[in-house]
Amino acid sequence: MCKTTIVSREGDVCVTHCLNCKIVNIWNKGVLVAFSFEQFDAFLKATKDLVFDNYIEYNPDGIEVVILATPFSEVSLVFTRVEWDEFFAALKQAAYMKQIYQMVHD
Ligand SMILES: [Zn+2]
Repeated sequence: MCKTTIVSREGDVCVTHCLNCKIVNIWNKGVLVAFSFEQFDAFLKATKDLVFDNYIEYNPDGIEVVILATPFSEVSLVFTRVEWDEFFAALKQAAYMKQIYQMVHD
């Protein structure tokens, strides 16, 4: 049975996890990203050194954004600078909370 816990919230980003299913859900406006715990850890590791300024592109409105590929080549995640900061702050907080929860989980 799912026991969903909110492990972080930052701006529009909310991260929940279920210790039974070992799933992390990242809610970000209209987008829901579901990772297994392993995928979540791998994603954090793969993105931890990414710096917004090194990957800037411009959306159709001329706003600086960074586009992250997903495993589905047709779908990408787009972040403004503020969204990027919120997204990764939320993920780091979630990773920390996940460790705490896993420590006390039977
Ligand atoms: Zn569950």
